[in-house]
Amino acid sequence: MMKRPVVLGVIAAMFAVAIAAQSRQPAGTSHNGKAFRFNKVKEGVYHAVGTGSLAVVGNSSFIVNDNDVIVVDDHVSPAAAWVLLEEIKEVTNKPVTTVINTHFHFDHAHGNQIFEPNVQIIGHEFTRRMLLSNSTSMPLYQNYLTGMPGQIDSLRQRIASEADPAAKAKLQTQLQVTENNYASQKELKLTPPNVTLTTQMSLYRGNREIQIRYLGRGHTAGDVVVYLPNEKVVMTGDFLTSGLSNLSDSYPDEWVASLDALKKLDFDTVMPGHGEAFTDKAKIDYYQAYLRDVWSEVGRLKKQGVSSEEAAKRADLSKHKDHFPNTAVPPIGTARIYALLDGTAK
Ligand SMILES: [Zn+2]
Repeated sequence: MMKRPVVLGVIAAMFAVAIAAQSRQPAGTSHNGKAFRFNKVKEGVYHAVGTGSLAVVGNSSFIVNDNDVIVVDDHVSPAAAWVLLEEIKEVTNKPVTTVINTHFHFDHAHGNQIFEPNVQIIGHEFTRRMLLSNSTSMPLYQNYLTGMPGQIDSLRQRIASEADPAAKAKLQTQLQVTENNYASQKELKLTPPNVTLTTQMSLYRGNREIQIRYLGRGHTAGDVVVYLPNEKVVMTGDFLTSGLSNLSDSYPDEWVASLDALKKLDFDTVMPGHGEAFTDKAKIDYYQAYLRDVWSEVGRLKKQGVSSEEAAKRADLSKHKDHFPNTAVPPIGTARIYALLDGTAK
């Protein structure tokens, strides 16, 4: 007779856990099929790339250690981070104890809020400062968010007028993806790193060493890379992607030297924040050459008295087209370079 209350107590506790977990589930997680493709880059080291069935935008990576999991970047929304954790459970049942934000941008750090307070979220001091300030009012995120209702309306109109069933189904998926993302953005609570660094820190998990390194200003004033020296792999966020990174909060003139610092690390594989993992280190040279030219080309136009909007139309980086399919500099990029040259950049 004494056992019964104990059993009931255990069942009640299980329910409480289930309810607590369920109540944290954000809006907008529904999707068809897998949201991520996990590319196993090294033993226990995975690159998570979105399939398109859920808005995730950037890539994340995760490292499965002896007793825990470390996640690098957590996507564009609470919903995307939630689904990432659900899908990681299909690879391992070890707990995620640590998240690393490579930088503050929305497509890398807007999933932070779903983690329990005992999870360490590590990022540069600048990343914490930005996520504590009004980073969602900055143009990069504002352009993204304010464009969504229009995208939803336009998709609805296209669905209504589409006769081909296959094309219609595709548009319906896009609509669902956008609506879910919008619903999740509405629940956004900016959550900064609760552990910060300024130059370097290391985590040790069994034989695995995980270095978090700040290599200088570049894509933002606080991008870090995650370097695994034994596995010879580096996770670069948007400090180095497989294509062109956005320049909205960048220091293109300093980025080249910061990339030189990256080259000094001994690695064979890059896991970028956008695009597939790659081994061709010449991509760093190509990107440095692009950054040098974008800086001088936009600077040249500014000297001629051209407005920054006009500079975006005129800047000619086409000599880099063998390495980057679209070499155009968007207005947000020329505005940033103008602000840096004027000394008004924040
Ligand atoms: Zn990004």
